[in-house]
Amino acid sequence: MIEFTLIGETETHQISETEFVRATKNRYPYVQTKQSGQKSFYACCPCCCNSIQLVNIHNKTSKVIPHGKHTGKSIDGFPIYNETLYMTCPWARHGSYDWEGKKAELDLYEKEILLRAIDNIDRAIYYLETILGVYFKWKLKEEAIKEYFANQGWLYNIATKENLPMVVLYVLGRKRLNNLLIKKDGLLYTELKKGKIVLKLYENSSDVFYVKDPLDIRVCDFHRTTSSYDYTEIFEMAVDNAANSIYDNDLLKFKFVFDRDRYKRLCEMETWQKKEKYEIIIKKEVDKLPQTLFDK
Ligand SMILES: [Zn+2]
Repeated sequence: MIEFTLIGETETHQISETEFVRATKNRYPYVQTKQSGQKSFYACCPCCCNSIQLVNIHNKTSKVIPHGKHTGKSIDGFPIYNETLYMTCPWARHGSYDWEGKKAELDLYEKEILLRAIDNIDRAIYYLETILGVYFKWKLKEEAIKEYFANQGWLYNIATKENLPMVVLYVLGRKRLNNLLIKKDGLLYTELKKGKIVLKLYENSSDVFYVKDPLDIRVCDFHRTTSSYDYTEIFEMAVDNAANSIYDNDLLKFKFVFDRDRYKRLCEMETWQKKEKYEIIIKKEVDKLPQTLFDK
């Protein structure tokens, strides 16, 4: 990974010599000296909060750029290593895991996911509309928000601070395709065309379509590939015949690759204005949550 946090904090820092020294002031337990005199550098994973060892932060001649890797065991001065959180960490390099499952416990990290969701769920919906090339009807936008909060989206194993759109798409579950207005030449349009699904022009428009047939769309699989410096998240989407809803009768499947940087840029857009309609729906859902969720 290329970012770290400090113990008990959520602010992320880029892994570099300057930033490490600035944030940790070279204090214990971030810097530890072995009996041999060799120094080791530690911090916390920005996602699972477990201890990580920083590699190559002071070596400017190496081609290996500074990065962090999970220590896989408890380190003096750091919280006890939590294997359960490690298993769901996007920076963990292990085999498959229960991507549809949810975490039983709420920690600092999940609270941060929730706070970001409250701020950004409208942007997450906008992101989905843009990437899929669709317009959600208001009813569907409202449903997405309700489902996210009712299902405690922040506890999903796949949820990170950075992938809210994926969790929103997932909690929507199986949806009738006619909830969506489909933009010409967008991802969904292209895939439906490939699958020979009949698209009809919407009202008087020339570039917005809809599907009249009773077809459903759903997320059917999730993949994450992780390297030392990056990770990629992909949903596999499927369209099936709702009237004959046997899952192996999928009419088509396609990949939805999550562009983390693009979504991040959208979240950082200062000119973004939350629509009042969104404010009302979100507030209603947040008011239902127990106040303890927001305790520090
Ligand atoms: Zn981690």
